[in-house]
Amino acid sequence: MDRLPIFLDLKDKPCLVIGGGVVASRKIGLLQRSGAIVTVLATELEATLQQQIVQGQLTRIVAPYSSETVVPFWLCIAATDDVAFNHRVAADAAVAARLCNVVDDNAASSFILPAIVDRSPVLIAIGTEGNAPVLAQQLKNQIEAWLPARIGELAAQAGRWRKLARKRFTDLRERRRFWQDFFVGPIAEHLLAGRQAAAEKAMRAQLVGDASRKITRNGEAWIVGAGPGDPGLITLRGHNLIGRADVILYDRLVSESILDIARKEAELIFVGKSAGSQAMSQEDINALLVRLVREGNRVCRLKGGDPFVFGRGGEEALALAAAGLPFQIVPGISAALGCAAYAGIPLTLRGVSGSVTLATARLDNDLGSDWPQLLNAGHTLALYMGVSSIPDISQQLLHRGVSPDLPIAIVENGTTPQQRTIITSAKALQADATAAKVVAPAMVFLGESIRAANHLQWFEQSFTDRDAILDGGFGSHIDCNRLIETG
Ligand code: SAH
Repeated sequence: MDRLPIFLDLKDKPCLVIGGGVVASRKIGLLQRSGAIVTVLATELEATLQQQIVQGQLTRIVAPYSSETVVPFWLCIAATDDVAFNHRVAADAAVAARLCNVVDDNAASSFILPAIVDRSPVLIAIGTEGNAPVLAQQLKNQIEAWLPARIGELAAQAGRWRKLARKRFTDLRERRRFWQDFFVGPIAEHLLAGRQAAAEKAMRAQLVGDASRKITRNGEAWIVGAGPGDPGLITLRGHNLIGRADVILYDRLVSESILDIARKEAELIFVGKSAGSQAMSQEDINALLVRLVREGNRVCRLKGGDPFVFGRGGEEALALAAAGLPFQIVPGISAALGCAAYAGIPLTLRGVSGSVTLATARLDNDLGSDWPQLLNAGHTLALYMGVSSIPDISQQLLHRGVSPDLPIAIVENGTTPQQRTIITSAKALQADATAAKVVAPAMVFLGESIRAANHLQWFEQSFTDRDAILDGGFGSHIDCNRLIETG
């Protein structure tokens, strides 16, 4: 961060604009909008500025510029087309410790003006530290389009009700919850739709209504899938709930930037396995979850991938249900889906693979003893937690009648910048995995559709075994068109 964004109170503060052209005139307008008392110094003035002087809205300095000119002002903007002169103003302002912006010259400016979305009192300032003003403008347009038109009125009304809410909810956590619900609830809906009277009626019922109807501090659990690694792969709903939680219980596979979404007051509790430390037992996690919710907390149970795919979210939800506590479950992108997409492996591919199984590496246990038939019949198998079982998987494949040329992909650290994909075959699996020193977390995919990965690389910088898929292992060059035609 090269510059600190701040919101300056310029009401009734003297500000100076040097220059009298169109650009200067725009800056003068901006300063006046924030309540500043603006003075202008220029040899020539735009007609609108002259008019303002006549009407007494703008003061003009007629004396020639000197190094003392900037001294009485809070801030100044140099907006002439004389570069040397602008720099002189900036230098004088620096000596006098006055804020100075030189139009279109970031290096010479001690402050720069952001692109502004103004739905007062909601103000959004967008800056790129001078690198890409056009991008800032485009972001501004996007935000303008996305922001509800009456968001300013909503904020202003909330401001007027703050005192009332403080009186009604003396407990800080209760009050925060009230406001959290307020901004996504029916009163906010009324205000955003311009139904002021309806909003006030509803608010009165909530705040000054029957004291026995006082909102209780009910805890709730949200079992949320955080996705496979890329923080962009979390759902909007998951994102929103993480931001509202009082406590977050998280696993090893949850990325740091997802934890950053949490409120700064939220308590973060690690309940996963980490190198050298004993993992908390599932029973202990269930008990902790139930206790925290009972105590009135909003608890976000954050899991890698999807909570209901080898995530033991089912057990946690059952524990909450048994305790009669409320919960919500938010799905996530499971590692099989994330890794397949980021490694270019279509899990189903018309004519090649018509079904998928998600399983762990305990093949016979998870799939029954006829799993080799599945694979020979054009099926994709996505195996979780498989790294340590690779020797075993490899043995079984070779001894249970699976084609030795069956393509296999190992995707390590899928969807993260460290993603690595190793393409191999049933007969070469063990040797290739050992040579590549595969580490967890990794998914192992088996099935003919893996051949398409050769044509579908879009994420990894260096696709580890591109050559193997082209020349070695599979006999012939894989023709993408043929692959699809045969389908
Ligand atoms: N609930 C999770 C799975 C948890 S089991 C989900 O739906 O994805 C943990 C296993 O998931 C790991 O052993 C590994 O096989 C797989 N896994 C999780 N994240 C992964 C990633 N980024 N890359 C590859 N495999 C991953």
